[in-house]
Formats: sequence, C-alpha cells, structure tokens
Amino acid sequence: MDVAAKPVAADPRPPEFRLPTTAHPVRYQVDVTVDPTSDDFTGTITSELEFTSASSVLWLNATEITVESAVLTVGADHLTARVVAVPKNFVGLAFPHDVSGHASLAIKYRGKAHADDGDGIYRAKERDEWYAFTQFENTSARQAFPCFDEPSYKVPWQITIHTKKDLVAVSNMQSTGETDEPNGMKAVHFAETPALPSYLVAFAVGPFELVDAGKTAGGTPIRIVVPHGRSADATYPAQATKPLLELLEKYFGIPYPFAKLDIVAVSVFNAGAMENAGLITFRQSIILVKPGELTLGRQQTYATVAAHEMAHMWFGDYVTMSWWDDTWLNESFASWMESKIVEQWKPEWKLDVDAVETRSGIMGQDSLDAARSIRQPVKSDDDISNSFDGITYEKGEAVLNMVEHSIGADAFQKGVRAYLAKHARGNATYSDFVGAMTETVGKDLHPLFDSFVLQSGVPSISFELSCAKGAPPSVKLEQHRYKPIGSKIDPNRTWNVPVCMKWGVGQTSGTDCTTLTEVKAEVALTAKSCPDWLVPDDAGIGYYRSIPRGDLLERLIQPHKAVTLNDRVGLIGDVTAAVGSGEVQNGVALQLVQMLSKDNDRHIVDQSIAIVAGIVEMVPDNLRANYERFINKLYRTRARELGWQSKPADSEDVKQLRPELLSLVAGEAKDPDLIKQASALAWKWVDDHKAITPEMAGVVLHVAARFGDQKLFDRLHTDAKKTQDREERGRLLGALSSFVDPALVKQALAIVLTDEFELRESAGLLQGGLQDPKTRPIALAFAREHFDEVTGKLPAPYRAYMAYMFVAVCDEDKKAEIAATFTERINKFDGGPRIMAQAMEALSLCAAARKAQTPGVVAFLKKQ
Ligand SMILES: [Zn+2]
Repeated sequence: MDVAAKPVAADPRPPEFRLPTTAHPVRYQVDVTVDPTSDDFTGTITSELEFTSASSVLWLNATEITVESAVLTVGADHLTARVVAVPKNFVGLAFPHDVSGHASLAIKYRGKAHADDGDGIYRAKERDEWYAFTQFENTSARQAFPCFDEPSYKVPWQITIHTKKDLVAVSNMQSTGETDEPNGMKAVHFAETPALPSYLVAFAVGPFELVDAGKTAGGTPIRIVVPHGRSADATYPAQATKPLLELLEKYFGIPYPFAKLDIVAVSVFNAGAMENAGLITFRQSIILVKPGELTLGRQQTYATVAAHEMAHMWFGDYVTMSWWDDTWLNESFASWMESKIVEQWKPEWKLDVDAVETRSGIMGQDSLDAARSIRQPVKSDDDISNSFDGITYEKGEAVLNMVEHSIGADAFQKGVRAYLAKHARGNATYSDFVGAMTETVGKDLHPLFDSFVLQSGVPSISFELSCAKGAPPSVKLEQHRYKPIGSKIDPNRTWNVPVCMKWGVGQTSGTDCTTLTEVKAEVALTAKSCPDWLVPDDAGIGYYRSIPRGDLLERLIQPHKAVTLNDRVGLIGDVTAAVGSGEVQNGVALQLVQMLSKDNDRHIVDQSIAIVAGIVEMVPDNLRANYERFINKLYRTRARELGWQSKPADSEDVKQLRPELLSLVAGEAKDPDLIKQASALAWKWVDDHKAITPEMAGVVLHVAARFGDQKLFDRLHTDAKKTQDREERGRLLGALSSFVDPALVKQALAIVLTDEFELRESAGLLQGGLQDPKTRPIALAFAREHFDEVTGKLPAPYRAYMAYMFVAVCDEDKKAEIAATFTERINKFDGGPRIMAQAMEALSLCAAARKAQTPGVVAFLKKQ
C-alpha cells in the first residue's frame, strides 16, 4: 500500500559534510540502464537498511541525480517518500512518520553520463565507437546511484546492467547470465560482491574484446578487457599480470579475495589506474602497446602500476580505511608493495634504486611549510582531495620501507598479515594497523609511526666522525627539521628515527644502527680503528637528509666495493639537498658532477645530468658559452658516440641513458650536429613512425621542436588533428609544447582554446611556454587572460593543479601579482587552498634558492 507523503512544515537541514548515523545500509541491489551513446542513464537502487534511531528523514549522498520515486518498505507498510531538498552531495527523503529497525528502500532515478569527464558514469569515444566507464573514488559513486557514499559503509552489492545486445558489460563480479529484453536490449546479471564500500564498485560497457590472461595457481581467471580491434596490443599485460598476482598472494598468505580479475583499458581517465575490486581500470596507454613498440620503460610502467593496483585488492578492498584520514592505509601500502613485488619478480630492473630516488624527490615536497602529514584530519571535500598527494603515496612508501628495514622484513610481514586477518572484509584505522604491528613484533611501534605519519617534514641529521686516541671511533648525530634556503619553517622538530651507518676500514666494512630519539646522540662504531669512509644512510633507506660534517664529505667519495649503487644515489640526493639548505656550496656539487659524469652506472650519470640541467636558469648570458663548454667537456663525446637511435646490441642501461644524455647535449649545449640529425629524423618520423626506435621518439621530437620552425609546427599540428590514435596524438601534442620560438608558443597556446582536442590531452601546451624564460611572459599573460575559460573546460580533479605551473616563474617580485590574480579562483577548486599555498611557497623557495646559489654557479662557470 502506498501512503502519500504529508506536507512537512519546514524542510530538515541537510548534513554539512558527513552523513548522519541515523541509518546504515545492509546490502544494495542496483539495476542500471546504460547506452554508451547517450548522455542520460536510468537506474533503480534497492537498499536494505537498518535505522539505528527512529527518524522520519533519511539523507543519502547524490549528485546530479533526479529521484523519480522513492518507496520505503517497513514490514507490511509501503511509505512513499518526499524529496525534501537537493543540496550539493545530498538528497533528503522525508517519510510520513518516524521509522526504525529494518527497512527496504527502492529508488527510481535518472542521472547524467557526461562524455569524457572521467567521473561517475562517463562515456568516451574510441575510433568512432562509444564506451561507458565508471570512476567512483573519491566521492563519485553518488553520481551513479543515491547511496551511503562513505568508505565505512561496506556491504554486498548485486548489480544488473541493461544495455544493447551487441555490447559487452563487465563489473566487479563474474556474470551469472544474460536475459533478452525488448528493443534490442539485454540484461547482464552479476553475482553479488563481498562487502564493498561504494567507491570500489565499478562497471564498463562497450564493444570490448576480452583477452584471456590465464588462471593463477589458486584458480583466479584473469582477462584483459580492451577496445574493439586492440587485442593484439594487450600481449604484455596478458603475460605479466598472473605472476605478479601470484607473488602478492604469497606475500599476504591470503588468497586473492575476489572471484575473478579483469584488467580494463580505459580510453579517458583522470588518474592512472583504479583498484575497483575485481575490475581494475587503467589509462589505456599503460596497457596497450603496439607490437614492436614494447620498450623496457613500457614494461616497467605496466608492471609497477599493475602491482600497485593488485596490492590494493588487499590494502583497501579486503581491508578498507574507515575514513579518508587513513587514505595512507591504501596508498602508502600499495606503493610500498608495488616496488617490493616487482623487485621480487624482476630483480634485474633494480627498482630499489628508483625507490631511493623517489624518496629523495618527495622529501622536496615534504620540506614545505604547507606540506601535509601522511595522516591528517579530513573535514572537507578539499581535505579528501589533498589526502591523495605525493606525501601519502611516496613519503608513505619510504616510511614503510624504513620501518620494515628497522624491525626486519619477516617481522613486518607477520604484522601485515595479522592486521589483514584481524580486519578481514572490514574497515580499519591508523591505530588498528600500528596496534597489530606492535602486538606482533612485541615492541611499541607507536613512537616511530607517530613521528613520521602524524608529523610533516624531513629530519636533517648531521654526522660528525670522531676518532679520539684511545677511544673507539664514534659518530656524533644531531637532528633538526630540514629547512630549505628562504623557508620560514621552525627547524626545531625531532623524530624517532632509525639510523643505519655503513663504514669501511681498509678491506673490512660494517654497519651500525641506532634509533635517534633526542636532538643529539653519540654512537660508538664497531670499527676497530678510524673508518676511511662512512655512509650516513645505509642503502638510502632512512627517511632523513644527512649532512656530513668535518672532512666526512671527502671521505664519502672514496670508492669501495662495499659502497653500493643505492648508497651512492642516496648520497648524491643528500648533497643536492644540502646545497638546497645552504649547508654545502653549489660549487661542491658541480665539482662532484665531473666525477659522476664518468661513472659506469647510468643512474649516477643521470643524477649528474639532473644537477647540470638544474642550474640552467642561474647561468647569466655572458657565461652561457662556459656552461655549454662544461656540458660538452663532460658529455658530448659519449652523446655523439651513442647517437639518436637505439642499437640492437645496446644494454638496457644504455637504452635508458641515451635520451637523458642526448637531451642535455643537444638541448642545453645546443650541439649543432645533433640538432640537425634530430630535425632530419623528426621529418622522417612524421612519414614513417618506424624511422625512430621507440625509446627515442619522444626526445627526438622534443629537440627537433625546440629548434624547429613553422613548417614543422604545422605538420605536427595537422597530424595531431588527423590521428585517431591517442598515443600518437599524445606524442604529437608533447612535441608541440616543446617549441620555444615566441610566435609558435603563441600558436601552441591558442590551440588550447579550440575544440580540436580534449583539454586533458592538450593541457601540456599550457606548460610549454613557461619552461623557457624568454617565452614565460607570453605564457603567463595567456594564463591571466584565459584562466577561467581553460579551467572551465578541464575535469574537476585537474583544476587546482594549474597552480603548480606558477612555480616555474621562480621570481619573488612576480609572486604578489600572481597570488592576487589567481588565489581566490584556485581556492574554489577541489583541494585548491592547500595546493595554491604549496605552489606559492614553492615559488618563493625557488626564487630564494636561485638568488643564494647563483654566485656559486657563476664562480664555478668562470673557471670552465
Ligand atoms: Zn593506489
């Protein structure tokens, strides 16, 4: 029986941010009708509910949803609900009287499936055919169905998709069958999921092809879901997914927690990939590689992203954070696991070295006053967006790596397993994890985790070797917060930080570890006599910057077989950071470069190139020739020997070094022969993409464009408009952003305002003009004039990040005007206030560092 709603005197007030706890869902049943060619979709969601307190109003999350009818069944009563208000994020349903206990709510509704916005249910065109995808994290499930869209509401979902007969529909679970429906339609039924939060529900509909990728030892079937006609491009994921998934199962000691695994190539994606339970979606460029174009870089990208997303099947999907303040329980852990698993699978890739570099990189972001801590209260949508920053992913990974080494890998693994077992299919918090770890290890780990997870910033530890006669050698340690030149942060902050030092005396070497808990400490070394050298952060695993005191810097540089590649990469990062805080002079780093550039390992040469390329804007015009001479002296012979093309006999290291080296010598030292060759090759490439080996296409086009003319610009532009291939278009648009001729920079910027390309693909053109000081005013003027127009066309998650483009301005005198023009506008975007604050702080720090370091660079270059 239907009971008509009585008018209510005043509408109840909507929630401000979180849903009230009046009721919670027990399970959902969803029916959605999706036609990928249409902007509209319809659906019915039936929610089994439990009212924990009597209420005549129920609030759900909903965005761009029109409720057509809502009927609540309580026992034998059917109550028709009235929609009371539709503020952003919510829909309120009022019932004729209070309800309590168990109930079932059936809502019929309509929603919007926008083309290309990458949010909720959305559509994308691929070679003239339409596909529909979903992306619900963080809070877009509410665009697909009115629901309790918070991660702690974890319940089973039974999904049915109605669509055209000739299309394929996939979802979290396996299909249990299809039934015919009138008008050329069908219903695809899926098995009920285990308990899932709304943000992990997903489906995709379109003329897909399904590529069989085998079955794991445990019996999980894996498929690669690709657009029509692209099966041949999915060969690599079809081979690599299974061994990675099996290694994860082995680490966790818990079988893969879902019935099957589909890996979906998505045409338009705001993120790189998404860990929907049993249906992982990836930006298609990560999955699809044309035969003959599979470089090592492409293999590594797929393997690491896939390992990350599959690790989420446990970290996030099996055990879910209770609230977004614990996003780190998902992202830090998946990032840490991705390196670990790929390293186990392919040790020859040396991804542990990359982890040292990543750690060094994120310490830069963590040095800002406006840096987040890994775990931070989440009280607004902005806070949710911010919780997915580099601090959560990369600092989180580095901190877990450090703790794992400090307590031992086996103990850490036991702790992880205990944590997952205790919260299986449920939710968990920071305390749950640290508690389980502490219990398993038998040692209170709160001080260590609190120190790095609840507090921002990077410890800077000075090391002074002391070798007094008659006493064992020792090292004096002193910690404070790392403070970049020009920063206003208070350096008085301490951590509970595990420190491991490696030392060598003659042919022997050893390691001594301690946990620094106070500002100062002195550690006796187990060395029998004064060490010849000392590495202050063994293997680059500690999350701290080391500052060598006394003659330690000279001692560090002594080659010794016990000093590993990771040690050296860590040290170079620390020396560069010490230049950034003014504790080591820039000339010292540049002296170091001369030695590093001759190294046999490409990681070390890469680091030296980064230091040299990093000073380019400090080089005054009158010393430009000296700068080029310095580069040529160190790198030109090797660059010319290697040339622009990979050769079959090249090692992978050579293949990876070549683009960095050639880009520096041709791009910065302007080697005329190399530029001429790049230009000729680019012209060959536009007619035949096989003219350049796949590793080199990007850098050849970049250099050719940097020194290129109108004719090349027009050709690349025409080809970009013509091609239907997203990857090729990306490459062409990348090249268009590399031109530095002011007239061409203006033309490149103008493209952004046209409808020739979807803005997500062409947004890089905005950055192009900012990279060169001569064209920077043009790019800034363009940003000022067209900011609202451009950001209006960008998908929401991208908008605030426009703030980072101002960092390249690196001029304190321009900051006030930029802040006045853009702050208010950027603050309105998701995550905007913090991102803008970080960008403005980074701009100031860049300017201060440049001012402080330029004299050292000038003095050094005068001698070159
Ligand atoms: Zn992730």
